[in-house]
Amino acid sequence: MQDLIRQLLAELGEDPGREGLQNTPKRVEKALKFLTSGYDANIDDIVNGALFSVDYSEMVIVKDIDFYSMCEHHLLPFFGKCHVAYIPSNKVIGLSKIPRMVDVFSRRLQVQERLTNQIAATISDIVRPLGVAVVVEATHLCMSMRGVEKQNSFAVTSAMQGAFHDNSRTRMEFLELIRLRSNIRGAGSAAELACADE
Ligand SMILES: [Zn+2]
Repeated sequence: MQDLIRQLLAELGEDPGREGLQNTPKRVEKALKFLTSGYDANIDDIVNGALFSVDYSEMVIVKDIDFYSMCEHHLLPFFGKCHVAYIPSNKVIGLSKIPRMVDVFSRRLQVQERLTNQIAATISDIVRPLGVAVVVEATHLCMSMRGVEKQNSFAVTSAMQGAFHDNSRTRMEFLELIRLRSNIRGAGSAAELACADE
C-alpha cells in the first residue's frame, strides 16, 4: 500500500521524497487499515455471550453514539451520531456492545443508508427484539469540503423495524427521546444521491 500512496502523492504534484512526506505512506497505510478495520471484525466475537434473559419489555435506548465512517464514493469521511433503540422480547444485550457494533459497520467504506440498515439488521438478528430503531445523523465532508450542496451536507437516515415501524406512538416516543437536530421526515437518500453523481 505504501508504494501506491507514494505514487498517489506524485500524481497529486507532490515530491514524495521531501522531508514532511517521508513517513506519510506508512502513516496513511496505518490510518486506512484502522478506518477499514470493520471488515475483519466478527460480530459474534464482539457480542461474546453478552446476551441476558430478562423479563423487561420497555424500550432500551443508547443514544449519541459517536461514529466516523468513509464515504465509498469519494473515500472522504462522514461522521456524526447514531441512536439505537430496541424493545426486548426476552433478551437484552450488554449496553456497551451496541457502540462496538456501530464501530464494526462504520469502519468500512459506506453509504449512510447501508450503515443504518446494517446496524438495525444485526441487532434484530442477535437480540430478536419486538422492534428496533436506528437513526444516524451525519456530516459528509465529500459535500461540505468540495462546496457541493452545502445545505445538504448534513443527512439523517433511519431504519424502523417491528414495533417502531408498526406503531407510530412507539416511533414518536423514540424520536422525542433522541431529540433530533433536524426533522426526520424527508431525510434519507439526499446525501448518497448528491455525492454519487459528482
Ligand atoms: Zn461522497
